[in-house]
Amino acid sequence: MRVLVATRSAHKLGEIRRILGGVPGLQLLTPDEAGLPPVPEEEGIEIHETFEENALTKARWFRERSGMTVPADDSGLVVDALGGEPGVRSRRFAPHRLPGEGVDEANNRHLLERLQGVPQAERTARFVCVAVLDTGAEGEPLVVRGEAEGRMLEAPVGQGGFGYDPLFLDPEAGVAFAELSGEEKDARSHRGKAFREMARRLSGSGNGGET
Ligand code: IMP
Repeated sequence: MRVLVATRSAHKLGEIRRILGGVPGLQLLTPDEAGLPPVPEEEGIEIHETFEENALTKARWFRERSGMTVPADDSGLVVDALGGEPGVRSRRFAPHRLPGEGVDEANNRHLLERLQGVPQAERTARFVCVAVLDTGAEGEPLVVRGEAEGRMLEAPVGQGGFGYDPLFLDPEAGVAFAELSGEEKDARSHRGKAFREMARRLSGSGNGGET
């Protein structure tokens, strides 16, 4: 089965490819590979207040334009001391970028500024990933959720991963997500948990793979 993965993030795509890659007979295409280059309206589809709604909207957007089955995810970082921010707005958290700064760097800088003075014990946070498989079949698409608990560090560490990974301490691993290999992160991450569940449904007799 050929499916279109609803993301333009090379990092997310890499993780999803690794995790869903083990499903026999599953071929994963990017939007570009499926003949869907980016269009400006796409920027306006993640406007909802929940990861679920955003993931469902993203999946439907790409399914309607490709006619293909679409796995999609919406994900983000939920920081307790910030009342759940940045949450569904994780990708565009920083209000501005300093000269020479990338988006992830600006977001991490802004997060550290907002957490200044917050003690270790109160820096609890979790990554959330809601993954959807929209086959176009009647009824609700498959929706699965994965979470990873951690704590926000006071300075970035590590070179791996993307986004907030350099600031996210995995207490069980004892290191930040950015210090783990890709496979180690998958084993522990929100995205790993959600897409492994999707992979199980696609490989087994679950309803996710029937069309
Ligand atoms: P979206 O799911 O494309 O809306 O983007 C989610 C945003 O949340 C990303 O741009 C990152 O800033 C952040 N994020 C989601 N997953 C991860 C992760 O695994 N590591 C680090 N940051 C993440």
